[in-house]
Amino acid sequence: MAIITNHMPTEELQALDAAHHMHPFSNGDELSAKGARVITRAKGVTLTDSEGVELLDAMAGLWCVNIGYGRDELADVAARQMRELPYYNTFFQTTHVPVIALSQRLAELAPGDLNHVFYAGSGSEANDTNIRMVRTYWAEKGKPTKSIIISRKNAYHGSSVGSGSLGGMTPMHAQGGLPIPDIHHINQPNWWAEGGDMSPEEFGLARARELEEAINELGEDRVAAFIAEPIQGAGGVIVPPETYWPEIQRICDKYEILLIADEVICGFGRTGNWFGSQTLNIRPHIMTIAKGLSSGYAPIGGSIVCDEVAEVINACEFNHGYTYSGHPVAAAVALENLRILDEEKIVEKGAAETAPYLKEKWEALTDHPLVGEAKIVGFMGSIALTPDKAARAKFASDPGTVGYICRERCFANKLVMRHVGDRMIISPPLVISKSEIDTLIDRAHQSLDECYARIK
Ligand code: PLP
Repeated sequence: MAIITNHMPTEELQALDAAHHMHPFSNGDELSAKGARVITRAKGVTLTDSEGVELLDAMAGLWCVNIGYGRDELADVAARQMRELPYYNTFFQTTHVPVIALSQRLAELAPGDLNHVFYAGSGSEANDTNIRMVRTYWAEKGKPTKSIIISRKNAYHGSSVGSGSLGGMTPMHAQGGLPIPDIHHINQPNWWAEGGDMSPEEFGLARARELEEAINELGEDRVAAFIAEPIQGAGGVIVPPETYWPEIQRICDKYEILLIADEVICGFGRTGNWFGSQTLNIRPHIMTIAKGLSSGYAPIGGSIVCDEVAEVINACEFNHGYTYSGHPVAAAVALENLRILDEEKIVEKGAAETAPYLKEKWEALTDHPLVGEAKIVGFMGSIALTPDKAARAKFASDPGTVGYICRERCFANKLVMRHVGDRMIISPPLVISKSEIDTLIDRAHQSLDECYARIK
């Protein structure tokens, strides 16, 4: 068997990777032209690649490494748990200490009466759970026709068949026969791109009222739930106008439909509170969690469920679960991650000190000729690139062409930012320092300058 290590030349690693590794969400042409970027180590907010280049990771991996890379405590806990009980399942009336402790802690942290946790291995799996859970809830309550889940265009809820159906990404629906039946999508509250002549406030209300229109059109007796990210992440960090969520909450209350807040990105400090629902003042019946739950150190996700829904589901046999639901090692790692977030006051300090600093610098990027709006809440931000700010115009090139150039300049300047179409997005570890924020902004500025020079 070949021994493959970090010390091998990059081209050899890339050739082996190309031969045997199929990449998620990757462009095949680009992969074969350039080879995959090989990341070998990480510490704090910094990644090191196989060429020894150090990159500032303004995406925290995939929005997940909230406590930063390289925390030995999590490795120690994982090793200890692997020795003691590396695996046991939670099916058939069985449990173990890590999952008991994690559930108790999550119930403490979650707002309101969100006191019960159903585990999964990822955010996608957790949203699949949610589809079955809300439909089962209504069926058990004697309302089996309430099966439609309303979601939004350009939402991202995962990649499995169920969660990909909940999501509203057209390129995903184009592959593999999505969406499944009884998922309905309304428009997103993206004022910059779709607000037309309306003020953000008017537009927020109009988009929220599409939920009410959809409920009336589909029939109240057919709608089970509405699912949304408090702030859309993968859709381009779309911060909704202030009028949006209060109206959505009013409508969910009025028609008694279940509200699912997908907190996979927004949870665990990203928006300045433990959960995005607290920042946006939402009262969900279910919250989807993953990513920051373990800061990405172990694959784990879940649904935090309110008393009423949990009572109904617990009273029936819910024929659902995953081999790794509540995996003991992942649960122990997640619990340790929550301890660090809590004891080091990472959420509170981030919200009080570094997030306002980042906001000020990020918003100042609107001085750049390429940048239209800059949005940021806590540690998730976006800028819209535009050829004409006043008109909120799109580029004449295919959507994403300029965003791609900008992202490539970021890489060249040792900054990992992502582009969604022609929006640039960040979601750095919550432990990013003020001087690292300065570096992030300097590199972003430099990359914008270079991008601007290229497209002029
Ligand atoms: N929900 C949201 C809001 C997400 O951003 C993601 C992933 O990016 C998911 C669900 C899916 O999570 P996972 O990739 O862990 O399956």
